[in-house]
Amino acid sequence: MKMEVLTVDGLPLVQPGDNIAQMICENIALEDGDIVVIASTIVAKAEGRLFTLEGIVPGELALRLGEKGDRDPRIVQAVLDRSHECLIGYPMMLMQSKGAHVCINAGIDDSNVEGGKFVELPEDSDASACAIGEELERLSGKSLSVIITDTNGRAFRIGQTGVAIGVYHIKPIKDWKGTRDLFGLELKISEEAVADEVAAAANILMGEGNGGNPVVIVRGLNLRTDREVSITDLYRPDNEDIVKQALRSFKQV
Ligand code: GDP
Ligand code: MN
Ligand code: MN
Repeated sequence: MKMEVLTVDGLPLVQPGDNIAQMICENIALEDGDIVVIASTIVAKAEGRLFTLEGIVPGELALRLGEKGDRDPRIVQAVLDRSHECLIGYPMMLMQSKGAHVCINAGIDDSNVEGGKFVELPEDSDASACAIGEELERLSGKSLSVIITDTNGRAFRIGQTGVAIGVYHIKPIKDWKGTRDLFGLELKISEEAVADEVAAAANILMGEGNGGNPVVIVRGLNLRTDREVSITDLYRPDNEDIVKQALRSFKQV
């Protein structure tokens, strides 16, 4: 078996209003079945989801968390404004964003953004993936999948990896339940987070710094589906999430 992972070279700094699909098609010949993996940072830039700290007035909670975490309370307020729930308030802020995604700082980020600005995550990354995917398929005439990624830390382990936060034409989970292992034993709980695995592979070529590689093509995997898909398949239902429940019971905000 073989899979290929390719950068799309020659992409410019992305500006609000840019057509990412067109930029990609101008710089690489896509093939049927390609998974086009796109860093959320450029999706956010193209969607104009940029802001500065100017004019942000921190409220009482932001001031308190800012002091405890030794952080600019305006950044804390910006994080709170984009969050549904605070799971850890300090020393870092682990937030459930307005969607179901849980990550540090609700995904706001000032790296790889010009002019002291911050990017925030796309409002609905599935919708963004779908819009870009449909445009890519129209322009290229190929059948494709899209994954929008962000770089996230993990509990228990040092280091960050690429994760999927929005999908188009690829099921985020591959279900192994009911299949057999090498010795005929039936698999009862195995679900493989394929969208995250592809995101992590692509993120190796993206890197986190000044590489200028926000789009990576993963070729040779047979993961495309025509069905409607959603990244929410990858998020554990709230009432079944024991770790979240533990964090809530421990809350120190
Ligand atoms: P995130 O993982 O979505 O937060 O994005 P990163 O900030 O880690 O950037 C991922 C990759 O995209 C890195 O190689 C960056 O240099 C690159 N990158 C970020 N913004 C741009 C851009 O506007 N244009 C280009 N060409 N590359 C970018
Ligand atoms: Mn990011
Ligand atoms: Mn990154």
